[in-house]
Amino acid sequence: MEFRDLKRQYQLHRKEIDSAMQEVIDSSHFILGSQVKQLEQELAEYAGVKYCIACANGTDALQLALMAWEIGKGDAVFVPDFTFFSSGEVVPMTGATPVFVDVDQDTYNISTDSLRNAIAYVIQNTDLRPRAVVAVDLFGRLADYEEIRQIAVQYDLLVLEDAAQGFGAMAGSRKACSFGDISTTSFFPSKPLGCYGDGGAVFTDNDAWADRLLSLRVHGKGSDKYDNVRVGMNSRLDTIQAAVLLQKLRFLEEELEECGRIAARYSERLRDLVKIPAGLGSMRSAWAQYTICLKDKEERERVMEQMKADGIPSAVYYRKPMHRQGAFEENLIQAVSCENTEYICDRCLSLPFHPYMQETEIEAVCDSVKRAILQ
Ligand SMILES: *Cc1c(COP(=O)(O)O)cnc(C)c1O
Repeated sequence: MEFRDLKRQYQLHRKEIDSAMQEVIDSSHFILGSQVKQLEQELAEYAGVKYCIACANGTDALQLALMAWEIGKGDAVFVPDFTFFSSGEVVPMTGATPVFVDVDQDTYNISTDSLRNAIAYVIQNTDLRPRAVVAVDLFGRLADYEEIRQIAVQYDLLVLEDAAQGFGAMAGSRKACSFGDISTTSFFPSKPLGCYGDGGAVFTDNDAWADRLLSLRVHGKGSDKYDNVRVGMNSRLDTIQAAVLLQKLRFLEEELEECGRIAARYSERLRDLVKIPAGLGSMRSAWAQYTICLKDKEERERVMEQMKADGIPSAVYYRKPMHRQGAFEENLIQAVSCENTEYICDRCLSLPFHPYMQETEIEAVCDSVKRAILQ
């Protein structure tokens, strides 16, 4: 069994994807070919945002956003303690200081109480200027943007939505990548909308930031690439990747529907055994991961071993709180304690999940988890 089976999707859609890639090769417009612009238009429309600027990966997308805001030395950027490294990595890259915030024990997304406390701490105890909050749509579930927006207004913070795992998630009629002042996503192959290599995108409604982002992704270009008005990056999305994504976008809705159905099957079978993902109400998750929480570290080890013995892959996203990563050791600001993150890091376990899972596979995973727990 595969953790996220990318081959089945390709087998099903081989013809369209192959011919889309071949078309790029035939045209030989490998960099910023017409497919890139078309993809940007379609993604902006899908997300309901004015501008989409494609780039090389989801990490660059986050960095480009911070650069567009001219965030740097002396600025504090609030980041959830429980997320993939990139969400925080980009902050010191700009010279700014990351301040890690605890997450909600049920949704695993940034805790707005902890965020308020962290902001208050920074204002009272440091010379840093609170500038932005990175809100991550972890495992595909949207962060609490109503509350986050209120806090942002109160403290004059910019909201950066990291929707690397959230593309396609919805609340009402609003889609992921429309909740931030700038929002970003990743097209890493295993993400909800993945390409066949690295890729990413930045979204915004703001004209001036969109202009700056277009410049920043091509060496800070002015009138052309040899007129450089600022220091930027080389961060474009390859035309071949754009062509693949244009094809994949056609069946994304179908896949997301399947993901919802598969998550419901998992939850039905597991709810009495483990802590299942929190209810979504009327929201739609993009289901980047289906993550359960076990009783303690030992139980997680037992489940992982049993699954391994049964030939079923599993993964721990994430084992280490951000504030414990050695990379942040220097100048770490411990504004708040992150107990929920510590608790979750010791107990979380992500199960095999993708839109092409068969009922027999879901059953095999759940039986394996059950055997380990009732052992
Ligand atoms: C994957 C991921 C990223 C980075 O995306 P890349 O395309 O791998 O650079 C950023 N944030 C989160 C939450 C992610 O899961």
